[in-house]
Amino acid sequence: MKFKKKILCIGAGYVGGPSMAMIAHKCPDCRVTIVDISHERIDAWNSAELPVYEPGLDEIVKKTRGKNLFFAKDIENQIKENDIIFVSVNTPTKMFGAGAGMAADLQYWEKTARQILKYSQSPKIVIEKSTLPVKTALTMERILSAAKGKFTFEVLSNPEFMAEGTAIKDLENPDRILIGSRETKTGLKARAELAGIYARWIPKEKIITSNIWSSELSKLVANAFLAQRVSSINSISALCEKADADITEVAKAVGMDSRIGSKFINAGIGFGGSCFKKDILNLVYLCNCYGLPEVANYWESIVKINEYQQERFITNILGTMFNTLAGKKICILGFAFKADTGDTRESPAIHITRRLLAEHAEVIISDPKALKNAAIDLAGEKGSIFYMQDPYRAASGCHALAILTDWNLYKKLDYKKIYKSMAKPAFLFDGRNVIDQNKCFEIGFNVYPIGKPALSHFKTKQDY
Ligand code: ADP
Repeated sequence: MKFKKKILCIGAGYVGGPSMAMIAHKCPDCRVTIVDISHERIDAWNSAELPVYEPGLDEIVKKTRGKNLFFAKDIENQIKENDIIFVSVNTPTKMFGAGAGMAADLQYWEKTARQILKYSQSPKIVIEKSTLPVKTALTMERILSAAKGKFTFEVLSNPEFMAEGTAIKDLENPDRILIGSRETKTGLKARAELAGIYARWIPKEKIITSNIWSSELSKLVANAFLAQRVSSINSISALCEKADADITEVAKAVGMDSRIGSKFINAGIGFGGSCFKKDILNLVYLCNCYGLPEVANYWESIVKINEYQQERFITNILGTMFNTLAGKKICILGFAFKADTGDTRESPAIHITRRLLAEHAEVIISDPKALKNAAIDLAGEKGSIFYMQDPYRAASGCHALAILTDWNLYKKLDYKKIYKSMAKPAFLFDGRNVIDQNKCFEIGFNVYPIGKPALSHFKTKQDY
């Protein structure tokens, strides 16, 4: 079959895989190829067990793979053969040199730009899909302009706003698609070509365009705003615990104001995921570079509150369990950074587990999708760690349960059965406010929610 468009994506990760699978699914007349330097990742995408878990992803990949969706290893040839190239390689926080711990590490990004330059034999549209600091397109343009005279490259910014756990739903029905370009004749033409691909399944009014720097910056700002909502409600949860208010009631009352809205204001143990912290630190670094320390400090406080919230959770466990965890068994329910994903990058569970191990607790970790990643994250940690998929087996004999991920499954567990199997007094730390806390209290648990009064069977406040 002759395909109308030949599309390549460099980087077969959480962004590249699902977003390209959706394009292939919606545009059967386009050939979509995804390459990655990790051959292991490509093999996994070609196998029965995909490297990324997302509800609905398996079906789409299985429908299109081998027809118009291909996972390949020959990066050089694929760059030659395709006309539209998405770049979704990782841009982690830089851990060395200038900007260490803050700035984005652009080495993978720049290597990709140089590869595109080296192997291209015809004009290309190069699209930034990864989240990048504002003005990165300029670097890409400067590298690619070394090909001057032979043919041209047009660089676009098309950030991916999908959320992990709902990626397929978001890709199918996004709030918006943003395409930024240079406002030149060729820039606008490339912008229109990319818009034409999305217009195959997304209403035109949802496809918005902008100058390239606005587009790059919008992705960082969107993530910073989302994280800010989480830190805002979490900061108030600390106050609720002191003032005998209930964070769920406060969030409901506040969220019903249509100017504020009810989404993303659930208190918990803090945000995780590969993006929020990295993108805020990146924003902070940019603000400092542009001589805006007040703006930088404002955004940095969002990350600080996130760390504070995790610390509060640990301190509460320690204080509640009589200031010693040595030899006690703590069952962690949920290791993924959020429900419906196996992703554990920057998951609060990593830090919390390390802190529990430092107190010489025995940690038993249960999660429906993230145990493999949890074992990788905790490899090399000293202490007793056990991994058990079955939450009932994991909880058996434990002194405490700590719910760290908002998996729906944890709302439905038989807590009576779990309580019976645990050491007494049994503690339940609901780090996501997901369970029926009153019911668990009636069963016999001492229940410690986030941002609400504790439900304790001990007699006086000083006793717990
Ligand atoms: P994201 O969440 O942004 O998708 P991931 O880390 O899941 O990030 O995926 C990025 C992918 O990009 C990884 O699989 C990595 O191997 C790949 N990658 C990084 N550099 C290159 C490169 N130069 N060429 C091809 N693939 C690359």
